[in-house]
Amino acid sequence: MAEKKLINDDFEPLVYDEQYILMVNHLKKYFPIKSGMVSKVTGYVKAVDGVTFNLKRGTTMGLVGESGCGKTTTGRTILRLSGEKTGGQVLFNGKEVYDLSNAEMRSMRTKMQIIFQDPFSSLSPRLPIGEIVGEAVREHNLVPKGEFNDYIDKVMDNCGLQPFHKDRYPHEFSGGQRQRICIARALALNPEFIVCDEPVSALDVSIQAQIINLLKELQEKYNLTYLFISHDLSVVEHISDTVGVMYLGNLVEYGETEDIFRNPLHPYTKALFSAIPVPDPKVKKERIVLEGSIPSPANPPEGCKFHTRCAHCMERCKHEAPKQREVEKGHYVVCHLYDK
Ligand code: SF4
Repeated sequence: MAEKKLINDDFEPLVYDEQYILMVNHLKKYFPIKSGMVSKVTGYVKAVDGVTFNLKRGTTMGLVGESGCGKTTTGRTILRLSGEKTGGQVLFNGKEVYDLSNAEMRSMRTKMQIIFQDPFSSLSPRLPIGEIVGEAVREHNLVPKGEFNDYIDKVMDNCGLQPFHKDRYPHEFSGGQRQRICIARALALNPEFIVCDEPVSALDVSIQAQIINLLKELQEKYNLTYLFISHDLSVVEHISDTVGVMYLGNLVEYGETEDIFRNPLHPYTKALFSAIPVPDPKVKKERIVLEGSIPSPANPPEGCKFHTRCAHCMERCKHEAPKQREVEKGHYVVCHLYDK
């Protein structure tokens, strides 16, 4: 694939709308595949391939899809954690994140945080909890020296941790408490937006509920905005205001949580949602089983990327990529079945 094609991007530039803390427009992140003695670029893994959505301040957007669909790369690319983007725009509070200088990006980092799936490997085993939570606060000079200890105590208390935990080490805590420490570390920087990357997947179900409730409490208290990445649809339904469904680097459906769960439109969303267990033995639900596995993002199918697994595939789906349509107010789908 020619480099020129990757750089030339064909989209309408965004006009900033201040109700949205985050505006993502045709975001692309391709990773080069290199081979041979001279590491020649022979292709690209199209991990994120034109993702567009807007996120309102103080709300949560759930991002769902099978493993390898590009959810995590989308989150990391928004935060500028994966090097340069390949194309598109990311406006945070109206500013293009990729246009910021190093110094501007450094101060922006405090406003945009991430919580990872595995709370153990994301905490340094050699540092006591007080240091882990306070390290970046000190580095960014966020509070005067004399108020530092009280500030860290307050942040930890907000996350259900006690002051005496400050001197303990990560291995002395359970999985749920370690995730509280990760949340406290992010919260200490006074963020506005947090990417929560599968934050409860590694935890027991009973602990999952506590962490979800903590995230909701903190959102209300501090007007936080979350991008909540998860493959657990029940958790996403519980926490999200809007939901985006990803397939092979694209957002195939996007809308209010209620609309998406009540009336899923895209054949992929329907299949995904048909696997949600219903807690009523009398209700019979027909499970839609998808044939085959997800194609490689290095060599995605032409036309609609889902056509190799879609039960409704038409001839045009094999050659023509569908465009995003607004089927009901605020409910968008990318599928030829909904073309007018
Ligand atoms: Fe299926 Fe065609 Fe819709 Fe793609 S565009 S999801 S192949 S019906």
